[in-house]
Amino acid sequence: MNEIVRVEKLTKRYGDLIAVDGLSFEVREGEIFGFLGPNGAGKTTTLNILTTLADFDKGCVTIAGYDLGKNAREIKALIGLVPQEIALYSELTAEENVSFFASLYGLKGRVLKHAVQDALEFVGLGGDAKKRKGKMSGGMQRRLNIACGIAHGPKLIVMDEPTVGVDARSREHIMNSIRTLRERGATIIYTSHYMPEVQDIADRIAIIDKGRLVAVGTENELLEYVTDFRTIELDVSSRDGSALRASAQTLGALPGVRRSVYSEASGMIRVDVDLNISDITPVLRPILESGIRVSGVRTEAPDLETTFLALTGGALNEEVNL
Ligand code: ATP
Repeated sequence: MNEIVRVEKLTKRYGDLIAVDGLSFEVREGEIFGFLGPNGAGKTTTLNILTTLADFDKGCVTIAGYDLGKNAREIKALIGLVPQEIALYSELTAEENVSFFASLYGLKGRVLKHAVQDALEFVGLGGDAKKRKGKMSGGMQRRLNIACGIAHGPKLIVMDEPTVGVDARSREHIMNSIRTLRERGATIIYTSHYMPEVQDIADRIAIIDKGRLVAVGTENELLEYVTDFRTIELDVSSRDGSALRASAQTLGALPGVRRSVYSEASGMIRVDVDLNISDITPVLRPILESGIRVSGVRTEAPDLETTFLALTGGALNEEVNL
């Protein structure tokens, strides 16, 4: 896959504070790239630089082959920004808001009209075109905020916490819209404080902390930073105790199984399997075939939250007390 964004040794200072500190990463064309980090990690600053809203001190950024230092104008035309703060006019209707933003990108006349209608329908506000922003619920405003960022058909869409404060239904709608945008060929950079959301939607995730890249990869690649196996616990019983021990031994010899132990005290077989084994049927089959009764199965795997804590030493949702 070709890269659409390349960030090399990016640095941004605010006085003595280094908000972005030698950050390097790339975003591949057509992917949903998750951007995770605790408060103050430098996410918004980085996104503002990519979208030409903020300048930077050192480093090199190229977007679709254009150098941000020299071709900011060309880059601006390729990008759609959905900002963290809802940036809409209360007195304007949904239609007028989208129209205003799309016209900033040079859309006019019938093309503009169609683009506005499309964007509103896309976010599920087709029937609310004439409603003023001030009369809309929080979730509707969030969706309108997205429509304003995508109406001009950008190749790269940057979303900074697009689901803050929305209910489950609007969240689901937004998540599905993002997937559709990707299917239509856009690349999406997605920031959220809500870890399950990023886990669910992103193809690859970058974890940043204190302005630096801590890790980048698919969810599984990130989990492998912390551990490379997960444990399956089976609650088992049989009239023949030796059958349980023998089964545990059989499981231990299966490919991808690290260790398999039967504990009489807990009535449990614990099997450690490689993290990349997603189908556990081969582990269950020998047990079931030997007539052993299985009354419970649990799998314990490290999750992204655990990985995040291990890599950054702090929780994602940690509130900063001012
Ligand atoms: P959050 O998740 O809380 O939005 P973030 O990861 O987006 O955090 P940034 O907003 O990029 O982090 O901030 C990075 C650091 O730069 C923080 O310490 C912040 O206080 C500081 N900072 C951001 N904008 C400015 C500014 N305009 N002037 C001075 N310092 C700033």
